[in-house]
Amino acid sequence: MPLRTHRVAAAALLGALVLSLTATGCGRSGSPPARGPQPGKLPHYAVDSGFSLRSSPTWKSAEKRGHLTIGVKEDQPGMGEMNPATGAYSGFDIEIARMLAASLGFDPEKDIEFKAIASANRETALQNGQIDFYVGTYTINDGRKKLVGFAGPYYIAGQKLLVRRAEKQLKGPQDMAGKKICSAVGSTPLQRVEADYPKATAVAYDSYAICVDNLLNDQVDAVTTDDTILLGYAAKDPAKLKVVGKAFSTEPYGVGVPRSDKVLARTLDKALTARVRDGDWKRAYDATLGLSGVPAPKPPRIDRSLTS
Ligand code: GLU
Repeated sequence: MPLRTHRVAAAALLGALVLSLTATGCGRSGSPPARGPQPGKLPHYAVDSGFSLRSSPTWKSAEKRGHLTIGVKEDQPGMGEMNPATGAYSGFDIEIARMLAASLGFDPEKDIEFKAIASANRETALQNGQIDFYVGTYTINDGRKKLVGFAGPYYIAGQKLLVRRAEKQLKGPQDMAGKKICSAVGSTPLQRVEADYPKATAVAYDSYAICVDNLLNDQVDAVTTDDTILLGYAAKDPAKLKVVGKAFSTEPYGVGVPRSDKVLARTLDKALTARVRDGDWKRAYDATLGLSGVPAPKPPRIDRSLTS
């Protein structure tokens, strides 16, 4: 069967947010997500107040502006999620962003503006200077390295499948033939389904939240992306959703930076190493993604051969 990919451009981010709320119940009462990160339990990151990095053009302009503008996801529970009632962001990626801001001399409580950027728009956002750096389930790979720079990796994820709780047939990628498999435009999991599983019908939306809504409404058979993201959705609606199978890819997460700002990338590498060493990385994991029940893995080592 020929590969069919439906790219649905019309329902963009607003739709994603509304649908995600309907699907997950998040924010209905204005309270934080039931199983989500609790603001009072998040780590405090020591701010390096005397810090200066004038050889980084990105850092220099952020300092002049008075805050960092960091690109993130807004609809990925446990990783990067915005509470619409308060506007507050939470999740493991958000904590990584906050600890890195502190290492760059910015107060994570006051000196960060988070900007939600979907998977397909990350490279443009970094190239246009809309954001200083990006922390949002962003896989380091050769194609992207032609367009942006990376620091990291700070986590290794893997592609899996999210299905309805009652699903019996779909247990892994080997069962995807003839099934509608949903993922996000501009993501590596979508590319993998299109390239390696031609008998599956790939369905693409701007965000995973729309895919999850379609899964709950029987419009697609599975959602595929990184286990980190899928676990967050399953943890929010365990009566209706489950993650199945073994990971069938390796997704090393990097911090996306403007390609020419090598100084910033290497400084963030050092900051990540230090935050792993002092326990902040683990504390951040435990307070966010760890709530899904999966214990903290060993953090990956910074790998310049991957990022440069
Ligand atoms: N890590 C994968 C990627 O960067 C999937 C998650 C995402 O779309 O952010 O494409």
